[in-house]
Amino acid sequence: MSKTIDFLNSLDHRELAYFYKYKSKSYTKPTQEVIENYLFQKRGMNIEYLERLLTEKKKKDDTHSCPRCGSSKLRRDRVEVLNNSSSKGSQIAGLDQYSSGRVIYDSNVICNVCGFWISDVNDQGPRQKSSILERIFDFFIRL
Ligand SMILES: [Zn+2]
Repeated sequence: MSKTIDFLNSLDHRELAYFYKYKSKSYTKPTQEVIENYLFQKRGMNIEYLERLLTEKKKKDDTHSCPRCGSSKLRRDRVEVLNNSSSKGSQIAGLDQYSSGRVIYDSNVICNVCGFWISDVNDQGPRQKSSILERIFDFFIRL
């Protein structure tokens, strides 16, 4: 649990607001409680304050920051580029990979604060699909 606290300690108020809104719900219940205790007890924040932070304009940031929350705490995951018809990866890999037989790597870039996928090489990130059904449907379409 202290890893969670260490991470929370590294975030500024704005980042905490985005983290709470977009990412905290993806944690297990006990961890969510740790997060809420941290925000509301230890840091003395409240929902109104967090919501106000979410509506504040982002500082003008360079390209190395998340377009949603403005944080520069990004994670890069090196992944093998797969060939599936709709992904950005297949457009890059396209001819190259399959004519030469070599494996191509690229990086998924994911915001550590709000979980936003900035770069999604193989289209595997959480899309804006609203329901599990849609995802299942999508899965069968790809088969
Ligand atoms: Zn973000």
